[in-house]
Amino acid sequence: MPEPPTLLPPDSYNQVLLSQVHPPDWANPQPADCYDLLVIGAGTAGLVAAAGTAGLGLGLKVALVERHLMGGDCLNVGCVPSKCIIRSSRIAAEMHHAEAYGVIPPASVVVDFAAVMERMRRLRAEISPADSALRLQSLGVDVFFGEGQFVDAHTLTVEGQFLHFKKAVIATGARAAHPDIPGLQEVGFLTNETVFSLTERPPRLAVIGGGPIGCEMAQTFQRLGCQVILLHRGHQLRTAEQRLDQHIQRQGTGHLAALVPAHAIGQGPQAQVGTADQGVLVVRAYLASHALRGEDHGDRGRLGHAANP
Ligand SMILES: Cc1cc2nc3c(=O)[nH]c(=O)nc-3n(C[C@H](O)[C@H](O)[C@H](O)COP(=O)(O)OP(=O)(O)OC[C@H]3O[C@@H](n4cnc5c(N)ncnc54)[C@H](O)[C@@H]3O)c2cc1C
Repeated sequence: MPEPPTLLPPDSYNQVLLSQVHPPDWANPQPADCYDLLVIGAGTAGLVAAAGTAGLGLGLKVALVERHLMGGDCLNVGCVPSKCIIRSSRIAAEMHHAEAYGVIPPASVVVDFAAVMERMRRLRAEISPADSALRLQSLGVDVFFGEGQFVDAHTLTVEGQFLHFKKAVIATGARAAHPDIPGLQEVGFLTNETVFSLTERPPRLAVIGGGPIGCEMAQTFQRLGCQVILLHRGHQLRTAEQRLDQHIQRQGTGHLAALVPAHAIGQGPQAQVGTADQGVLVVRAYLASHALRGEDHGDRGRLGHAANP
């Protein structure tokens, strides 16, 4: 069995999460002779494919293979944690503007960043049973942890076992891109795979990529009290993101997100967007699902074409 991943911070909420989405004591089952459906990847797509097929009531044999965390990006490092901290950030923003609604806000609005992130971890852990290994198992799906690799058109190997199948669904999703920006590796950076592990608020944050997720994260962290710069390579944000940018600018809460012109990314001195005390956030760009062939981080997405949920 692969080593269970370490979730940071290693608090009780993340332990609960891990026990659901990659139980440390999980033993892969004895494979069936032949699966009607084999699903690789237990993110949103894989879970729906596996649970939906097993639930048809046709007695179909279904296997689900996951190398990391069930629930994939959405539960662990995507929709769920982002929407949790967005909710907190919205409360903070509304308190700043409460007077417009006839409510006198307190003299100062203080964001407890650690508490925001802890709330997110608590909620994420609370809903994790829905995506858990035990739940899928209870639906009749054989759950295997480990990296799946095709041996031939009807055989996949995982952790030394051979799974034979009639049909396979490849639902291996995407990974965060590590764009080739001079200086980026040296200063260090966050991606969606690490940003939700923060427990301390970065004083300043450069968000690279002005797509939906980049804008979403820029606004959220700005509302949580970071000084945010949004860097985007295109000449303009897309319409929805433009509206968001205007909204951020209108808010005037003291920490405005700025849109940096196209040429600032990928060339010239401005490309070195971080210093040791600056957080740098690279939003995920969509990548080809090449993980099955060990081609992680193949860069299909490019900066400025940030993930389109
Ligand atoms: C910050 C952020 C916010 C988002 N917000 C939203 C939102 O509000 N609404 C929305 O609809 N979408 C949102 N998204 C997008 C959403 O998270 C993705 O569209 C969704 O998670 C994709 O699901 P998936 O199943 O295709 O892939 P993934 O979730 O990436 O799952 C793929 C799984 O396959 C596994 N895997 C890969 N290779 C192998 C292998 N060889 N063997 C075994 N397992 C393997 C991976 O470990 C992973 O668990 C957001 C994304 C991010 C990053």
